[in-house]
Amino acid sequence: MDNLLAPLEFNDSTDLRTPQIYASHQVLFIVRDYVCAHCWGMLTAEHAEDRINWIVKCARCGDGVGFVSKYYTDKRKQTDYAEFQEVSNLLKSLNIIEDTSRLDGKSNEQLLEELGF
Ligand SMILES: [Zn+2]
Repeated sequence: MDNLLAPLEFNDSTDLRTPQIYASHQVLFIVRDYVCAHCWGMLTAEHAEDRINWIVKCARCGDGVGFVSKYYTDKRKQTDYAEFQEVSNLLKSLNIIEDTSRLDGKSNEQLLEELGF
């Protein structure tokens, strides 16, 4: 019998792109600990056809996109922010950009164009 309190463990061979059917106790962990692999948005659960089990999907992207752990996305956000700060400071020190706040919300293509590429 499954340990009801143990978090789910996904590994590299876990197929998360195919809609999966989960038991109620698994859905609680998935919705709490994982986000959409595509948009990092919240996951939702709806009853499977058998009305006993559940299908987990992204509220925005639908099913079949897969999941990643919130731990992973939190770490990536921290790393990305640190890299942004480092690059911002470098661009300022080289007098390439004086005010990095004007870079907010621009696409990679727009940023490269502003930098002259
Ligand atoms: Zn999504």
